[in-house]
Parts: sequence; C-alpha cells; structure tokens
Amino acid sequence: MSNAFFIDTTRCTGCRACQVACKQWHDLPAEHTTNRGTFQNPPDLSFTTYKLVRMKEAEIDGRLKWLFFPEQCRHCIEPPCLETAMDESAIYKDEKTGAVIFTANTRNLLVDDVIESCPYNIPRKAADGTLAKCDMCDDRVTNGLLPACVKTCPTGTMNFGDRDQMVSLAEQRLAAVAKKHAGAQLVDADSVSVIYLIAEAPTEYSEYLMADSGTRGITRTMALRKMMRPFTRAMHQLT
Ligand code: SF4
Ligand code: SF4
Repeated sequence: MSNAFFIDTTRCTGCRACQVACKQWHDLPAEHTTNRGTFQNPPDLSFTTYKLVRMKEAEIDGRLKWLFFPEQCRHCIEPPCLETAMDESAIYKDEKTGAVIFTANTRNLLVDDVIESCPYNIPRKAADGTLAKCDMCDDRVTNGLLPACVKTCPTGTMNFGDRDQMVSLAEQRLAAVAKKHAGAQLVDADSVSVIYLIAEAPTEYSEYLMADSGTRGITRTMALRKMMRPFTRAMHQLT
C-alpha cells in the first residue's frame, strides 16, 4: 500500500499540537529559546525538532494574514537524499509504508552533500555529523496507527492514509479553497508523499516550500549530484 499525508494549511490555526506530539512520541528534548517577536518557536527545524509550524505575517490584497505551514520531511517518491547517500545502511525507504528513514549510520556519509541534495532543506545534523528528520512515525504506521502529528491534530489540517484517498481529499479541498483563493494549489503532489494545500503564493510561507522555489531546484541538484558523484566518493575515501 502506498501512503501519503495531506496537509491542509488553510485549516491550520498554529496550535502546534503536531509539533509537541512529534517530540513526545520520539522522546525528543525541548529547546531553550528566547522571545523573538514571532509565534514560530523554535526558530527552525533541528536535530531534535522534526516538525515545525512555521508562521509568517503577510500583507495580501491590503489585508494582514497569518500563514501557518506545518513543515516536515516530504518523504519524496524518488528521494534525492537517498540517491546522494548511496548507502542503504544510512538512508533507506521502507517500501511497506513509503517512509524515507535516516539511521545513525548517516554520520558516515558526506552529510553536507546529503543536506544540500534535499530541495526542501529538511535534514539537520548533530555535532557528530549524524542526520535526523521526520521518520513518518514508521513504527506507529507499521502497527496500524496514525503518525503522532496526525493523530493529535484537532482541526483536520493533518491527514494520512492510502495515497489515492489522500489525493482525492486534496483535490476536493483544492476545489473548495480555490473558489475564494485564486492562487490555491497542491504543492509538488506528483513527487512527494506529503501533499500540502496552500492558498497563497509559496514564497509567502517559506523559501523551501516547493522543490523549485528554493535555491535547490530538484532537477538541477539531481543532475549535478549525478555528475559529481564519482569525484566526491573518491575524495571521501581518501580522507
Ligand atoms: S524531503 Fe528531503 S530529506 Fe525528505 S525524503 Fe525528500 S530529499 Fe529526503
Ligand atoms: S510523521 Fe511522526 S516524525 Fe513525522 S512530523 Fe509527524 S509526528 Fe513527527
């Protein structure tokens, strides 16, 4: 069975229940933060924060809007991080669930290359070079449970299940939202397992919201990686 998330940002109220549930399920510590004058807290994803509700204030058509974007790994269908790693003991795909999994062996990879290969700017590294990110709650999903962030979401923003059902739900919601927001769209729906519905332009939410909206366009990055791989691996073996 192929799984997918459908994340309807138009329903997100920024309660951050998903962010807390993710930490709780993975037994991850809280981060010491300071008041930066924004709701977004902590400021970024990290080795111990796999899910982050990003928040931006935007003036659109003369009105102030709060835009929430619950960010996590997209579990790409053809993951550039996995392609770059070329080491299934470090990064592999669980074919039963579709989850792209990072292990402790990521510390043996060319980690900066793996980070750079992700068009969504997701992987984060610890001091020893080990990488971490959302694991789709693979243990829960394997045992018939919803991911913790989906289970806890009280607004219908977070959805998870059979890919065909999620795509169908996403298209229904897009049709409804597009009646009020001409720019509504589903983000990179054909290439990821985490499908976002957004109502405004992608850049209003986050630099890396779409594969091609950041500085790491997926096509360009993949082509470069493939071209450079023999050289980077040889260099890694020499060091
Ligand atoms: S979003 Fe990034 S880290 Fe996640 S599977 Fe895709 S390339 Fe890998
Ligand atoms: S699927 Fe699990 S690991 Fe991923 S963001 Fe949700 S709670 Fe965190």
